[in-house]
Amino acid sequence: MSDLTDLGLAAMARGLAARDFSAAELTAAHLEAMAANRHLNAFIVETPEIATAQAAAADAALARGDAGRLAGIPLGIKDLFCTEGVQTTAGSKILAGFVPQYESTVSGKLLADGAVMLGKLNMDEFAMGSSNETSAYGRVISPWRAADGSNRELVPGGSSGGSAAAVAARLCAGATGTDTGGSIRQPASFVGISGIKPTYGRCSRWGVVAFASSLDQAGPMARSVEDCALLLTSMCGFDPKDSTSLDVAVPDFAAGLTGDLSGKRIGVPREYRLDGMDATIAALWEQGLAWARDAGATIVDVSLPHTKYALPTYYIIAPAEASSNLARYDGVRYGLRVTPEGGNLADMYGATRATGFGAEVQRRIMIGTYVLSAGFYDAYFTKAQKVRALIARDFELAFEQCDLLLTPTAPSAAFAFGDIVDPLAMYLNDVFTVPSSLAGLPAMSVPAGLSNAGLPLGLQIIGRPLDEMGVLDAGLAIERAAGFTARPESRR
Ligand code: GLN
Repeated sequence: MSDLTDLGLAAMARGLAARDFSAAELTAAHLEAMAANRHLNAFIVETPEIATAQAAAADAALARGDAGRLAGIPLGIKDLFCTEGVQTTAGSKILAGFVPQYESTVSGKLLADGAVMLGKLNMDEFAMGSSNETSAYGRVISPWRAADGSNRELVPGGSSGGSAAAVAARLCAGATGTDTGGSIRQPASFVGISGIKPTYGRCSRWGVVAFASSLDQAGPMARSVEDCALLLTSMCGFDPKDSTSLDVAVPDFAAGLTGDLSGKRIGVPREYRLDGMDATIAALWEQGLAWARDAGATIVDVSLPHTKYALPTYYIIAPAEASSNLARYDGVRYGLRVTPEGGNLADMYGATRATGFGAEVQRRIMIGTYVLSAGFYDAYFTKAQKVRALIARDFELAFEQCDLLLTPTAPSAAFAFGDIVDPLAMYLNDVFTVPSSLAGLPAMSVPAGLSNAGLPLGLQIIGRPLDEMGVLDAGLAIERAAGFTARPESRR
């Protein structure tokens, strides 16, 4: 039964519709795989009873003939999404024991379409990180090992590292992720799966624990472009409960997929050719452009002149918004409360936040508070907002000359735990993903090849606002040409 977990999500949906196997069998196979792979620490909470009940409901709906498009598909939900009646921690100790009384719009839409929730996936604390080392619930271990004989444990990327590890290790068919500056795309690249961050506003942020509200977007992570397209169709849609939600029609992305790039112009941003870029990644990028050409595209050189300011801009705006969003964790309304002996209210706030937040979150709150302070607001925050507008303008101008952009997803393959300790060096992981986040554009990572050490490398496709369809089509073209079949070892 366990080879059921090897099927892709779309193949599972077809098998369920044809009654080749039941949702109950499919869910049981995944629960078994989860139990055999607990060493990866991909889940903070497993919800086998909920999953089993939802699978039974899916089987009944399939039998009646009124099943939703995701009936019986076993998914993991990143622990940033509030799930009714199931603990939601955002990877933080400060939210330990927080059980929401409501369901996030996005997870609710997946469940309404019949999906089965296997559990809540581990993640960097409040989605801050690139390696899953900041989770209060322990690091997530990538199912991959380098082929250099070192056998060191590797990071799955972050912050959606639990989602990435679980999908790559076949513990779930797909997962939700969130991406503020690259947290869907970089972990997807590190573990050899696909993931798409849609246009800002496509997926509702309601019920998603906030990190940086002007950047946060939900999106799917799965083992193929088609699988991502299926999930994305369910996840998108207008939500009056999110004031930045876009009231636009949602196409059936899976039905619309062609993989045809004829007539498309693919732009290559010259500023992404970094000095000292990894030679294998540079070669893979060239290969990706050749694949796009073979699929009918023409390649054009474009310039995004403000690219070098994207990382500093992001690391001002994201912490600023985070410092404001995280002010609500005061020991009164949610989760943890630490009351020092003989202390007053301010002492309780201080002790709760000092105990409940990890080092990276505290660092971001301090940076954010500093850049928003009266004396520095104009020098940092206002300036960053202006530069953000210039970065968005760069993309607008580039999209006058091309339809899509193709770049590497990350500057390296997955690294080992402890290899990057300097926070600033860690922030460099986001160099290729942050600009499109600042501009609110749809962007996707697809696995395209392997590093010299045999580890997955992704290519990134960036599209115009609301052109998820174009991004997915280019992703499919790369997926077909790359024929990426490498997979990690998994324990059974
Ligand atoms: N690595 C980036 C950060 O730490 C991006 C995180 C994200 O997209 N959630 O902020």
